[in-house]
Amino acid sequence: MVKKQLTFTINSLVRKNILSMKPYSSARDEFKGTAEVYLDANENPYQSLYNRYPDPLQLAVKKEIAKLKNVSAQQIFLGNGSDEAIDLLIRAFCEPTIESIVIVEPTYGMYSVCAEVNNVTVQRVSLTENFDIDTEVILTTVTPYTKLIFLCSPNNPSGNLLSREKIETILNNFNGLVIIDEAYIDFAKSKSFIGELKNYPNVVVLQTFSKAWGLAGLRLGICYASEGVISILNKVKYPYNINTQTQQLALEALGRKEQKDRWVDEIIAEREKLIQQLAALKIVQTVFPSDANFLLVRVTNANHLYETLMHKGIIVRNRSNVKLCNDCLRITIGTSEENRKLIQALQQL
Ligand SMILES: *Cc1c(COP(=O)(O)O)cnc(C)c1O
Repeated sequence: MVKKQLTFTINSLVRKNILSMKPYSSARDEFKGTAEVYLDANENPYQSLYNRYPDPLQLAVKKEIAKLKNVSAQQIFLGNGSDEAIDLLIRAFCEPTIESIVIVEPTYGMYSVCAEVNNVTVQRVSLTENFDIDTEVILTTVTPYTKLIFLCSPNNPSGNLLSREKIETILNNFNGLVIIDEAYIDFAKSKSFIGELKNYPNVVVLQTFSKAWGLAGLRLGICYASEGVISILNKVKYPYNINTQTQQLALEALGRKEQKDRWVDEIIAEREKLIQQLAALKIVQTVFPSDANFLLVRVTNANHLYETLMHKGIIVRNRSNVKLCNDCLRITIGTSEENRKLIQALQQL
């Protein structure tokens, strides 16, 4: 496919009301320095822990992430999970009842849920049989009203990376934002699309502290994009969307990056072991290739196996009613002890 000249600017993409609105300006937006006496935010002066509002732009956390990922802090948005970024992107860029997003199924459920809550049309395209994208199908589905294309790589629930070349074809030929959800990128062989921020004005990358970093309970998601896109997200977010404790704990985690890397190595090693053990079982038909911390597994009777495992106290995700995933279970890689229990339960059937 030939490379077309992209013809959009962020201001032409964003909803007109968002472009023209005046954002809320908090006390901490209006005075950013340090001072001896703070009498500007109606806080309680007696309490000493958590009595102050947090930094609305989370600059200390962003500085560390920026160093780690080789981007600027102005190319980073932090949200209450990546789910917040997904919601805000749809709300800021898609006019309800008129404009639309494209999603490629089977994939993460929140893209369509956020669009539906906002009354934004969802154009649903299917992945191919081997769970890759078909660029022709996606690009012919796009209309002048399509604002966002969501791609999940590695994809949930299939576990595979989408073809990098095909993603670049979409980036080169779509006059809107291409959101690449990299929640599982730490477990993958391929490198992140964050490095493409300088090459494509329309690339948006989502990552999260919920998976490899082990901090799902904190609710901290990261969105990397051009400064123009990030300033739009900052304009529409709640003023203090990331609480003080989350910011502190994220900073601590970023200071222990080696811990995260060791966990990732261990999970990948467990994943490769589990693939072999699952493939040797008679009830297993296919273990799909995985670049994530889970495996999609096609079995003889997924509904029955799901129930059986549940009665043995082992909970996996039944994906058998999802497009292209008939008779499939999605199994998260656990500790070696947990994985041993899973295999033992399956061998006893
Ligand atoms: C788990 C997951 C997320 C993470 O969402 P958070 O809100 O950051 O916890 C995002 N995208 C996909 C595809 C996921 O599987």
